[in-house]
Amino acid sequence: MEAQESGEHKYVYDFAEGNKDLKDLLGGKGANLAEMTNLGLPVPPGFTITTEACKAYLTTGREPDGLAAQIEAHLESLEREMGRRLGDPDDPLLVSVRSGAKFSMPGMMETVLNVGLNDHSVVGLSAQSGGNDRFAWDSYRRLIQMFGKTVCEVPGEEFEHALDEIKSAKGTHNDLDLNADDLRGLVDAYKKIFAKHTGREFPQEPREQLDLAIRAVFDSWNAERAILYRRQERIPADLGTAVNVVAMVFGNLGPDSGTGVAFTRDPGSGAQGIYGDYLANAQGEDVVAGIRNTVPLQELEQLDKTSYDQLLGIMARLEGHYKDLCDIEFTIERGKLWMLQTRVGKRTAAAAFVIAGQLVDEGLIDLDEALHRVNGAQLAQLMFPRFQLDHEFEAVAKGIGASPGAASGKVVFTSARAVELAAEGEAVILVRRETNPDDLNGMIAAKGILTSRGGKTSHAAVVARGMGKTCVSGADELDVNVPAKRFTVGGHVVNEGDVVSIDGTTGKVYLGEVPVMPSEVVQYFEGELDPENTDDALVRSVHRIMTHADAARRLRVRTNADTGTDAARARRFGAEGIGLCRTEHMFLGDRRELVERLILAHGDREREDALAALLPLQRADFIEIFREMDGLPVTVRLIDPPLHEFLPPLEQLAVNVAVAQERGEDVAKEEALLAAVRRMHEENPMLGLRGVRLGLVIPGLFAMQVRAIAEAAVAVVRDGGKACPEIMVPLVGAVQELETVRAEAERIIAEVVGDSGVEVLIGTMIEVPRAALTAGQIAEAAEFFSFGTNDLTQMGWGFSRDDVEGAFFWRYLELGIFGISPFESIDTDGVGRLIRIAAEEGRAARPGLKLGVCGEHGGDPDSVHFFHEVGLDYVSCSPFRVPVARLEAGRAAITTTGSDSR
Ligand code: PEP
Ligand code: MG
Repeated sequence: MEAQESGEHKYVYDFAEGNKDLKDLLGGKGANLAEMTNLGLPVPPGFTITTEACKAYLTTGREPDGLAAQIEAHLESLEREMGRRLGDPDDPLLVSVRSGAKFSMPGMMETVLNVGLNDHSVVGLSAQSGGNDRFAWDSYRRLIQMFGKTVCEVPGEEFEHALDEIKSAKGTHNDLDLNADDLRGLVDAYKKIFAKHTGREFPQEPREQLDLAIRAVFDSWNAERAILYRRQERIPADLGTAVNVVAMVFGNLGPDSGTGVAFTRDPGSGAQGIYGDYLANAQGEDVVAGIRNTVPLQELEQLDKTSYDQLLGIMARLEGHYKDLCDIEFTIERGKLWMLQTRVGKRTAAAAFVIAGQLVDEGLIDLDEALHRVNGAQLAQLMFPRFQLDHEFEAVAKGIGASPGAASGKVVFTSARAVELAAEGEAVILVRRETNPDDLNGMIAAKGILTSRGGKTSHAAVVARGMGKTCVSGADELDVNVPAKRFTVGGHVVNEGDVVSIDGTTGKVYLGEVPVMPSEVVQYFEGELDPENTDDALVRSVHRIMTHADAARRLRVRTNADTGTDAARARRFGAEGIGLCRTEHMFLGDRRELVERLILAHGDREREDALAALLPLQRADFIEIFREMDGLPVTVRLIDPPLHEFLPPLEQLAVNVAVAQERGEDVAKEEALLAAVRRMHEENPMLGLRGVRLGLVIPGLFAMQVRAIAEAAVAVVRDGGKACPEIMVPLVGAVQELETVRAEAERIIAEVVGDSGVEVLIGTMIEVPRAALTAGQIAEAAEFFSFGTNDLTQMGWGFSRDDVEGAFFWRYLELGIFGISPFESIDTDGVGRLIRIAAEEGRAARPGLKLGVCGEHGGDPDSVHFFHEVGLDYVSCSPFRVPVARLEAGRAAITTTGSDSR
C-alpha cells in the first residue's frame, strides 16, 4: 500500500488484496489463496511477491528497487497479525516460502518451510508447542535440509544419508521413532554438511534466510527440470513465478495433526465422491513425495470428525464457487483445519469430459463452457486402445491407477536408461520406488511409469496425468531394487529388459505383454455404441459435447483419404467430404510396373498405351471413393510424386544390373530403367520434377487422370448416386502453370460430362510460397485453394521435410527457437502469414473462393484455431483426427470468459 502511495511499483500483495483472476501477477497459488482468504476460509495469513518481481530479478540478476522494503512492510504486518516475530527466541513466527506460477508445474519449482528457525528460536518453538522438543528439533532439521538443498545446492543425499545413519543406529526405519535428542544430533550433523558444502555456517539471521529462500524460488523458474516441463506442457518461458510467504501451520504436532490432499471429484474418472489422501502427524512434503503411504481421506472422519465435516463443507463451497473440480491441500494443526492451497484441479482426459457433462447437468455451466473445458488433445488420448484381458492374464500386483491408459514395455530402472532405450525405438516402462522431479526426462521417454510407493497425488501421478502418460503408483507388493536393476513381486523376479504391462485405470500390473482393445470413444464414433442408450458416462458426455461443437463450429471438417475404406471410416467419424485424395498412392503396388512403362516410354505410342492401361484402374478407384462419399465434395489431387519415391533406388538398380550382367542374363529392360533413373536422378527431389511440373512434362498424364475423375463421376451419377469432384493441381507457383492444366482439363470435362449434370470444380494447392504471394493472380484460374502446409512449411522455412526433424530439431527446441515443430503445429508468424496473404488476396480477386487446408496441420488443435481465425472454409485431416478437428473447430468458434483449459 505504501508502494502505491509513493508511486513506486507494487511488487507485494497481501492475501486480502488479491483474487483468483490475478494469476498472471500472483501465480495460481497466490491468486487462489487470496480468493479463499476473501471467501472467509481458514487460510494462514501471508503475502505474495509478484511474477513481475521475479521477471525483473531474472532479467537483471538482482531484486528490483523497492522490493526489499515492501517485503519488510508486509512482514511487519504479518508479524502484527500473528502476534509473533520472525526469529523471536521466545515465541517465533515461522513462514513457508512457496513458488506459484500462473500454470501449475507440480514439483518443478522450490519450496522452503520453517523459515525463521535458528539456534535460539528453536527453543521458543518448543515452548510454543507446549514443550514438544521433538517437534521443534524436527522442524529445524527440515529447514536446514530444505534450505541446504534448494537454496545452497547441497546434495540432498548427504542429508538422507545422515538421517539413515541415525535411524539404523537406533535400529528403526521410521522417522517417528527418533526422539528430540536424536534430532538435535541430526541438526548438528546437518549443519556440518551445510558448512562443508557451502563454506559458511547455516544462516542464523531469519531475514537473510527469507531473502535467500525467495531468491532460490525465483531461480528455480529456470531450473533444468522446470524448463523441460514447460516445453512439454507448452507453457511460455517468460511468465516467471510468484513467491508466497505464508505463516507456518504444522501438521506434525502429534496425532491430532496431519496433512492431506483432496479432490472435489475423482480426477481419474470424474465420478462424484470424496477423493484424497491423508497422513497424520506429517508435513505436506511427506505426502507429495510419496515417502510414507497415506490413508484414504474418508478415514479422517474417524480421526477428526469436526475437521472432516468442515473440510467437506469447504470443498462443496469451493466447487460451487469455481464451478469446477477443485483440488485442495490442507493441514490440521491440533484439530484446527487450515487451507493451504486450492486450484482448478488437473484431471484425466476422461474425467475432463465426464465432469464437463456433470456440471452442465448440475446447472453450474452451460454447453459453451463445457466445450471450452475439454480439448482435442484429450479427445485424441481417449481414442487410444486399452488392455484386452482374459483369464490368461493375472495381475501380479495392484497399485493405484494414477493416470489411465494401457502400456506395455521393457522394464528400466533409471531415467537415463529410459531415455537411451526409447531413443532406440523401444517401448519402456520406467519402474521406480517413487519418482522425483529429476525423473522427468525418463517419464517423457517412457510409455508408462510404475512406482512401488506413493498415491494419486504423489509427484509421479500428478506429472503423468498432466502428460497423459499411463501411470501406476504405490504398487507396494513390488520390491524394487534399483542398483540391482530388478524388482521382485510374488516370487517373480523381473530384470531390466523384461516386458511388463501396466493398466493406469485399474492400477494392475501384468508380466509380459497384454494385448489391447479399442477405446469406447472410438466405438462410439464408429457407430458401435449408441450414446443415447449407454450407461457409459464418458460416451454420453463426448456425444453431447461433440454435438454442441458441431453446432457451434463454422469450419467444416474433411478428411485426407485415398481409399474407400479410409473414406468410409472418416465419414463415420464425421468427415464432411474429402479434402485431399492423394492419387500418387494409387500408382504403387502392382501398378508400379505401368508407371515404369510410362516413364520409360519411347515415343508417344508406348506412353499412350501405358496411360490407356492406367485409365480404367483410376476410374475404378474414383468410383469407389465417390460412392463412399455419396455427394459430399471430394478433392482429387492430380499426381504429385517426388520422383525418388517412385523410381527404384539408383544404387540397388545398378547392383542388380551388374549382377545380372555378370551372370550373362538378358538385362535390356533393367538397363533402360537404370538409364532412366540416372537421367531423372535429382539432388533435391522435393524441389524437383513433381506436382504440376510433372503434369506439364509428361503429355497425357494429367489428362488421363482428369478423364478418369470425370468418367467416374458420370458413372456414379448414371447409377443414381451423387458425385461432387474437385480437381486439385499440386505445387503450382505461377498462374500460367494452372492455366495450362486448366485449359486441357476443361476440354476433357466438357467432353465427358455432357448432359449428365456432373459439375467439376478446378482449383489448386497453395503450397509454394510464390503461389501464396501471387494468390490474387492464381485465384483468377482457381475455384478453390487448399493450403498444403507441409510443403508451405518446407519451402517457407527452407526445411527439408525428409531430413530436418530427426537431424536438428531437438537443438532448435532446446534453444527455444520454436516451442514445437512447425511441421506439427502451424508457424503462425511466418507460414501463417503466407496463408493470410493468400486468403485475403485470393478472395479479393474472386469473392467466394473456397479455402481449405489439407497439410498435416489440418488436424492439429492449435492450428485449427488459427485456420478458423484466418477464415478458411474447412480443414482436412487423417480420419482419426477428424473428431479432434471437429471439437477444436467448435472450441474456436465459441467465446467464453471461462478458465484456461490447460
Ligand atoms: C502438403 O504439402 O501440405 C500436402 C498436403 O501435400 P503432400 O503432403 O502430399 O506434399
Ligand atoms: Mg504438398
